[in-house]
Formats: sequence, C-alpha cells, structure tokens
Amino acid sequence: MPSFATEVKNELARYIPEESCCRNAELAALLRMGATITFGLRHTFGLNFTTENAAVARKTLQLLKLEGHGLRTEITVSRSRRLKKHNSYAVRVMPEPAVADLLEHLGFLHDESLNMESDRELLKKNCCRAAYLRGAFLGGGSVNRPEASYHLELVTGNYGFGNLLYTLMRRMMFPVGFTDRKEDYIVYLKEGDAVIDFLAMLRADKSVEAFEIARNLKEVREQVNRLVNCETANLQKTVDAAGRQVADIRRLAAREGGLEALPKKLRETAEARLARPDASIVELGELLGVSKSGMNHRLRKLHAMALAAEGEKHS
Ligand SMILES: [Zn+2]
Repeated sequence: MPSFATEVKNELARYIPEESCCRNAELAALLRMGATITFGLRHTFGLNFTTENAAVARKTLQLLKLEGHGLRTEITVSRSRRLKKHNSYAVRVMPEPAVADLLEHLGFLHDESLNMESDRELLKKNCCRAAYLRGAFLGGGSVNRPEASYHLELVTGNYGFGNLLYTLMRRMMFPVGFTDRKEDYIVYLKEGDAVIDFLAMLRADKSVEAFEIARNLKEVREQVNRLVNCETANLQKTVDAAGRQVADIRRLAAREGGLEALPKKLRETAEARLARPDASIVELGELLGVSKSGMNHRLRKLHAMALAAEGEKHS
C-alpha cells in the first residue's frame, strides 16, 4: 500500500493550474525543492530535478513544457538494485541560452547569483501562493496517515527557502512550526484542522475527504476507549474496596466469638459481603434493603472495628 503522502502527491500531480502565473509559482517551488542547476558550455545553464515519485516527475516535465517554451528536456529512471528502495526519477533540462530566461522568470537568478530567499514577484496573488505551496509539497513534502498522529511537513536542505516557506505559511495564518533535523530544515503542521486546511488549499480534494473520514473514525474510537477506560477504573475501585472490606470482616471473624458477636445489622452486612465479594455497595444494599449511604455507614463501622481489633492484637 502506498503511503498517504504518496497518495496525496499522486492526486496533486494530476492537477494542472489553469493560470500561467500559478503554473510558474508551482514550478518554481518544485524546482527549489528538488532541482540543482547544471552548467553547460559558454556559461549556459541547465536543470536537474530528481524525485522518487513518478507522478511528480511527470508533472514537473509537463510544467516545464508549458512554461519553458521549447526547452530540450529528458526524463530518466534509475532503478534501485536494493529491494524496497524506491526508484529515482530525473528530469533534465539541457543547458542552453534559453534556460537563463526560464530561471529569471522563476526568480532563480538574482544579480547573477541563485536566489533562494525571496519570491516576492511570484507570491503576489493568493492563487499563486497556494500553487507555490503545492509545488513545495510535491517536491519535498510529507504527511502522516490520519490514523497516526497529525503531522505534515515540508523538508528542504536550504535554510533560506525553509524560512521563506515558514514565513509564507505563517502570514497565511497556519499554526506552523520551523525546526532543523540533521542537514535539513523542516516547516511543519501538527494540528488536524491545519493539515486539512492546507491539503484543501492545495486542491487535494479526495485526500481531504479520506483524511476527514479517518479522523472521525479515530475520534469515535478514542471516545469509546475513554468510556471503557473510565468504566474499567470504576470497576477496579469497586473490586479494591470490596477486597478491603472482606479483609476487615475476616479480621473480625477471627476474633473470639467471630461474626456472631457483632450487632445484628453489622453481622448481616458482613455475611452479605462475604457471600458477594463482587457486588457493588448499591447491589449489596439492595440485597439487604438498605440505602447506599446506610451500607457505607455500616461498612465504615466494620472497618473501624477491624482497626480496633488489630490494635488490641498488637497491644
Ligand atoms: Zn496565480
């Protein structure tokens, strides 16, 4: 079974934004997540984008064809020799002078250096901000299955880009966190509602639906567990109390004269408890036609007498 993150990516990879501005923004974030710049002859640039998700590779190629008019591209698969390890897909844009135009268009080139810190031009419109974050998720995102703890993250090796994503999401009012792990910077969401809002904004409609159904089931299950735990705790309390009462009564029975020496009400209470060690106080009271508070009173009295008897034995 593919991971939930893969399911979400497969769904998002099929969604191609209608507006060119959004396609540009999405492509820019995708490339910042997964691409390196290559260099050709005569100061020409190329691109090398790698991903483990076939659908993401296909979408990147599609966006490059739509936005990088007429550039030469190729896609290659490297099959992993080890079992269980994923294939790797590489989308290449061959170095040629026209690539510089695309890079400039995407905001990569900035005063002849590579810009990872700012995408002001690309992020002017709401539609583009959502598309940008979709690109970031496709290129370096992950999300837990809703049955597990709620967690969505965007992982990048570049601090400037991580900070940009963090600031962008914070401005969009997401309860977002920012941390680092080994060589990576991680922008993350930890609340179920925030994960749903984020995925809905990226247009992962089917995944959002699946997430909500799973979340509801999880909440019902947790509620049932809480009730069961509560009942178990109450039952345990009853059992513990009954155990202490039986011990009291045994102590009194061991005295000279035994239970016969007790006043009638206490004797019938003691005998009823010995006969029904599993009964609650209410059930025991019903057996004798005595109220709960009446039973409690009698049992407290037996306890006091047992304590006194214990004291006598030791004096
Ligand atoms: Zn747009």
